[in-house]
Amino acid sequence: MKITNVRTMLLSAPIPPERRWRSDFGTSVKFDAAIVVVETDDGITGYGEAKGSPPVIQAIVETRLKPTLVGQDPTRVEYLWERMYSGSRTELALKHGRPYHGHNVRGEVLCAISGVDVALWDISGKSLGIPIYRLLGGGVRDRIRAYASGGWAGPSQAGPELAGYVEKGFTAVKMRVGGLDDEEFPGRSIRRLREVREAIGPRVDLMMDAHGALTVSQAVALARGAEEFRIAWFEEPVIADDDLQGLAEVRQRTPIPIATGENEQTRFAFQAILDARAADVLQPDIAIAGGLTECRRIAALAHARGIVVNPHVWGSALLWAASLQFAAATPNCTIFEFCQGYNPLLSDLLTTPVAVGNDGHNRGLVEVPAAPGLGAELQPDVEEKYPYLETTAYPS
Ligand SMILES: [Mg+2]
Repeated sequence: MKITNVRTMLLSAPIPPERRWRSDFGTSVKFDAAIVVVETDDGITGYGEAKGSPPVIQAIVETRLKPTLVGQDPTRVEYLWERMYSGSRTELALKHGRPYHGHNVRGEVLCAISGVDVALWDISGKSLGIPIYRLLGGGVRDRIRAYASGGWAGPSQAGPELAGYVEKGFTAVKMRVGGLDDEEFPGRSIRRLREVREAIGPRVDLMMDAHGALTVSQAVALARGAEEFRIAWFEEPVIADDDLQGLAEVRQRTPIPIATGENEQTRFAFQAILDARAADVLQPDIAIAGGLTECRRIAALAHARGIVVNPHVWGSALLWAASLQFAAATPNCTIFEFCQGYNPLLSDLLTTPVAVGNDGHNRGLVEVPAAPGLGAELQPDVEEKYPYLETTAYPS
């Protein structure tokens, strides 16, 4: 089997005014997705999502990566990852067994590599008629506990919002704190946390996410105020990529576990977080960090330190599907992010629904599909149904 073409589908789903939410990023008015499509000469097509600006991803995939891929065997995933990452020094990298990075393999280039990587795993699974997690070792679980990821509502609305997710079946919920409470910090965040803990009761796990927007002192002040609400993790208290020591300092000064990593790329960045003893939970995004191939390496590094890897899952249903395969195959993955923002690219993109169980032994769990590859089949008309919109996702 040979790769015959590599292209990118650009999709947008507008969010109707009554379904929008506001965070420190602004008001979300649309979701975008860049879906990498890898075609082969025996009719199998692989799909994988790449984060970043969709037109930029498209240009990178079709001008930089496609020439290194066409004509190659798509099932040689590790080899093709090396080709995309090491470029003209691939043979040196393989001869000496160490990384020889190409020029500028970060940012959207690595996001594009991530999308191709997932599409190659998809093809490999489909060509053998088995799900990806079976290629990755056979699976350690067939269902995983999910957490509802939302929590933008202000005081007096936050409790009902998060309690609504518990009603849908979730046994863990995450809310946004910090930046969106800027006008009265940390009091407004702490008030919202108290209301949520009262609304969801003592047994549901509650996480909080500051989007990397705080200083070390602000993060410690918020953590101290939040400790009585039994917080399962404090996500991105400070930005990881320019202040690992700051992150480690926050971790030393609170018993609340620290989570980070949704914007980090490659095993090298995650190794630095581990070396700085800066986090209890790593959250690589498979569409950013380097695909399934690189996230497996990150998981192995973390496992050696007793650290869990719970991926960031905020995108289309293809990121959801890739992340589920990862969760099924990775022993130190313990919980799965389920975006609660209105997103048709997550809820309506596939022929099978994305859902959390809400009865008996399935309550709060997401099932891993057993179909080949990603176990995800796109609706036939997605490019017509979700044409790309060249507007910003956060106009205000
Ligand atoms: Mg986050």
